[in-house]
Amino acid sequence: MTATAPREEQLWSRCAGCASLLYRKRLRRNLDVCPECGEHARLGAPERLRQLVDQGSLCLLPDRLPEADPLEFVDVLPYPHRLTGARASTGLAEGVVCATATIGGHPVALAVMDFRFLGGSLGCAVGELITRAAERALDDRTPLVLITASGGARMQEGALSLMQMATVSQAIAALREAGLLTVSVLTDPTYGGVAASFATNTDLVLAESGARMGFAGPRVIRQITGRALPEGFQTADFLLRHGQVDMVVQRRSLRGRLAALLAATRAGRPARPPVPRQEPASHHERLADDGAVLARPTDPAAEGDAGTPAVRDAWDTVRMARHPGRPTTLDYLDSVFDGFVELHGDRLGADCPAIVGGVARLAGRHVMVIGHQKGHTTAELVARNFGMASPAGHRKALRLMRLAARLGLPVVTLVDTPGADPGVSAEEQGQAAAIAENILTLTVLPTPVLAVITGEGGSGGALALAVADRVLMLENAVYSVISPEGCAAILWPDRSAAPQAARALRLTAPDLRRLGVVDEVVSEPSSAAHDDPAETAHRLRAALLANLLPLLDVPPAMLVRLRRQRFRRFGANRVGARAGLR
Ligand SMILES: [Zn+2]
Repeated sequence: MTATAPREEQLWSRCAGCASLLYRKRLRRNLDVCPECGEHARLGAPERLRQLVDQGSLCLLPDRLPEADPLEFVDVLPYPHRLTGARASTGLAEGVVCATATIGGHPVALAVMDFRFLGGSLGCAVGELITRAAERALDDRTPLVLITASGGARMQEGALSLMQMATVSQAIAALREAGLLTVSVLTDPTYGGVAASFATNTDLVLAESGARMGFAGPRVIRQITGRALPEGFQTADFLLRHGQVDMVVQRRSLRGRLAALLAATRAGRPARPPVPRQEPASHHERLADDGAVLARPTDPAAEGDAGTPAVRDAWDTVRMARHPGRPTTLDYLDSVFDGFVELHGDRLGADCPAIVGGVARLAGRHVMVIGHQKGHTTAELVARNFGMASPAGHRKALRLMRLAARLGLPVVTLVDTPGADPGVSAEEQGQAAAIAENILTLTVLPTPVLAVITGEGGSGGALALAVADRVLMLENAVYSVISPEGCAAILWPDRSAAPQAARALRLTAPDLRRLGVVDEVVSEPSSAAHDDPAETAHRLRAALLANLLPLLDVPPAMLVRLRRQRFRRFGANRVGARAGLR
């Protein structure tokens, strides 16, 4: 937290709310809230910490991690150049500042995101630092306070940034199990992968006055629905009205509110920690000893696939993954499984057609199968909302996952979605929190979970079904933090760069296998899945059995521990240490 921005030397600043010209020092004295109109200006992480924690209590946690550019990502600029620029302009090492401190005398661990640093995007380093802050809270037995400000996942780190949603969520799950309070404070703006994970799966969610939070951004929703958005859409008051946050807090009251909440929970906490730590204090040691029976990454070179699959251009693979003839979840339920009995409903008011689930048999064994459902014709696709789940769909999936765990059934998920539903009502119904809860629940679900990316694995909507002991991927499927079109629209001059974006994102099965995001690639018939669905089903069935059977003998507690290791290893250290792709 060294350099305060040179910007501070400017004497005057114009309010983004009412355009008043304000004396900078006066504004700062007022916590960067406009004295004229009450607009809450965005705060950098250092200033936020200064405002929140007790004087003299701040102890910054280490923020230096090995450089990581796991995809060797280049758009119009190489990713390392963007990182260097962000460091120079903010004086920060990364997009989050983590610390221990006291608030109103109550010790906490804090992670404060900084939107100025590449839009507060969640990359491997940010995920690693927040996870370490959560682990510190667990070690110290203190609450964890997260201050979020983010546009979402960091595209330049592709699917590895998506994995951070699971990594941080499982750290939150560990605090939940230990009976330690987690609080997130949403500040403006909090979107995408951050909204759909640790911003909303904490015990308490506070929204700072004027903050906006959502899974899909307003621009995207407007573009897709072609409609104007409701007044105040995704603002703190909107979130409160729709039951998504506990309270809306003015900045000047934030410190006091946090102190009161921390005091209340402290008083109520049992004297003795309920859960013994099983793991050594240092997560490095934990990582070092992952003699992971199941999560062990096999050497891709030694995988002995039936011949190396011909290298296909990433963009061609994207088109293949989206082919309308490609088998859907219901097709696989018919061809790979037997005796499928579909179960419906989220028990909260809806049944989402984009998610199908129920009990079935796989080679005589009972399993719970949950998957996205697309369709082959336009009518089918429309009826299934193109496989884009609503919050009700995610809640149905959650209900079935928990049911499976209670019944001792393994869970098999089939992932094929462009992403979660980018609509107004999905946001009103708590899209981000629904996805976040599924991700967290899967990290600790005490039953085997096997995920297969069968077609499109689109961002958080896909991950909500893909936190698993083993993640398989069909050869012509894709799995990505953002669609190539979306990525191109943001990082390139225009959408026509989608094919370049597809290549840069490393979203194909062989790439993701090399990055360790996927454990096994299931080869497709030489033509493609849609040309020979029977052969595809045959291969998928064999792969499911080969991966599921060893999981059945592992005690649930061990499964959960290994699953945690699997997702914990996507931290920046590991990724940084991994050799590049070429
Ligand atoms: Zn103002």
